[in-house]
Amino acid sequence: MGDALESGRLVVDDQPDLERLRITEVFHSLQGEAREVGWPTTFIRLTGCPLRCTYCDTTYSFFGGAWRTIDDLVAEATANGARHVCVTGGEPLAQKRCLILLKKLCDAGFKVSLKHPGHSISLRSMPACRGWSI
Ligand code: SF4
Repeated sequence: MGDALESGRLVVDDQPDLERLRITEVFHSLQGEAREVGWPTTFIRLTGCPLRCTYCDTTYSFFGGAWRTIDDLVAEATANGARHVCVTGGEPLAQKRCLILLKKLCDAGFKVSLKHPGHSISLRSMPACRGWSI
């Protein structure tokens, strides 16, 4: 369940009990898109994407990255101080544990947005939490 897809290659998590994700970067900035534009935001960019959109501007997220525990990511978002968190990629839902991250961020009181390419998504699989958007 904790595996990640990097540039079409499956990277198996060799420590599956740690509840972690393959992460390209975490950074703090102002949101530049959608209705949250202008809000101080922590961006969590997950590694990997099975798609190859011709207009992609984040090809660097297709591979590399580092394993981070989900609790560590929530702690970093808390330390950053922004109440908004944007989970992005890559295709963040290519890693199934992204759903755990979304749930824990919501439970910690963040307003959470998910940047998703929209190719396929089951809302029934999404965590039930208030204050988040796709
Ligand atoms: S879904 Fe996003 S990250 Fe993946 S190829 Fe398309 S634009 Fe790039």
